[in-house]
Amino acid sequence: MEPNAAQRERVQAVLDFARGRLSPGARERDAAGTFDRGLWNEAAEFGLAGLPIPEAWGGSGYDAVDTMLVVEALGKACEDGGLVFSLCAHMFASAVPIWRARAPELHARYLRDIAAGTLICANGTTEPGAGSDIYAMKSTARRAGDEYVLDGTKCFITNAPVADLFLIYAMTQPERGFLGVSGFLVPRDTAGLRVTTEHAKTGLRTSPWGSIFLEECRVPASARLGPEGSGAALFNESMIWERACLFAYYVGAMERTLERCVEHARSRNQFGQSIGAFQSVSNRIVDMKLRLETSRLLLYRAGELHRSGKRCEEAVALSKLWISEAAVQSGLDAIQIFGGAGVATDTGIDSLMRDAVPSRIFSGSSEMQRAIIAKMLGLP
Ligand SMILES: Cc1cc2nc3c(=O)[nH]c(=O)nc-3n(C[C@H](O)[C@H](O)[C@H](O)COP(=O)(O)OP(=O)(O)OC[C@H]3O[C@@H](n4cnc5c(N)ncnc54)[C@H](O)[C@@H]3O)c2cc1C
Repeated sequence: MEPNAAQRERVQAVLDFARGRLSPGARERDAAGTFDRGLWNEAAEFGLAGLPIPEAWGGSGYDAVDTMLVVEALGKACEDGGLVFSLCAHMFASAVPIWRARAPELHARYLRDIAAGTLICANGTTEPGAGSDIYAMKSTARRAGDEYVLDGTKCFITNAPVADLFLIYAMTQPERGFLGVSGFLVPRDTAGLRVTTEHAKTGLRTSPWGSIFLEECRVPASARLGPEGSGAALFNESMIWERACLFAYYVGAMERTLERCVEHARSRNQFGQSIGAFQSVSNRIVDMKLRLETSRLLLYRAGELHRSGKRCEEAVALSKLWISEAAVQSGLDAIQIFGGAGVATDTGIDSLMRDAVPSRIFSGSSEMQRAIIAKMLGLP
């Protein structure tokens, strides 16, 4: 896919903004595990909190291809992977299902602020006993007159420590399994909702995460996102967007890392010659290039299918699986090519590997993507 003139111009603007505003200080923030709300606000003002949300609500109205081109440019130019991850979690796992729900009142109340990024969202799906097996969730939403009473615990929730609004998935009819799941929008200051901050993580360290405790948390019936039982469909649609578009970040980051490796292999001399002259080093770089290009092909193919409204679950699963595994391997290769400097954290060379390791787990683990693909192939 060859980007058109408008897309190239947009990508260049994102590259310039990310290099100039988002990357400076990224390594220090990463070391400290600091989320910078000021930078979030700048990114949001630039339009990076509402890429797929329709223009009528203040978003950019981009389809999956346009969205992934912007996210890929962020990967290329923004060293703050955690900030981009937080923006993507806000957009794809929260803003998208809120926009896609049949919930005009909630749209009118929240969607404009969500697309503008003045409200930060977190999506609460995972529970201590329900990770990959997500519809084993135990959180409940019991109807009581004009209200629902929410009870349960959510963990590993991106943005939870800083979020203003929570999209909580809970069982309204537990006996119906995934057909009994509904989504609810719960403002942070709601009585009965408590948030704790999770421990530091391997990578994406500037993206805060935490647990949500719901204890007799009462919300009006109007906080329900669409009809009762529509939660699983909304969640699945949001995961397709996330698996398709968030992983564009890693394609951009792989390209950025590859360029650094080529430059290093050309300039670093050992045994009287550049290390790039040793085939075991250059072959490693060639493999990184191959992973980058195959990742990009799978990414754009998934984006084109999504954009054209064709079935894309398998293409999206293949893209997500390949990119996350490729990014981990290329991250390890980059460290090896830089030798000691590769493990010195202040060089930032280890960041691709550290940021990519979680990508094999969130949005459905690599094993779960393989399970989706196997099912699509007709395997039992
Ligand atoms: C950085 C990060 C951010 C996250 N943000 C959010 C968020 O914002 N909101 C949210 O709700 N959740 C979030 N999560 C949670 C994430 O969705 C879960 O971690 C993920 O679904 C896996 O669940 P689990 O951690 O309980 O692992 P488990 O499900 O216990 O899996 C453990 C291992 O078993 C494997 N496994 C499990 N079942 C199968 C199977 N059927 N076949 C083969 N292998 C299997 C898994 O692949 C994995 O390797 C985040 C996670 C991470 C790492």
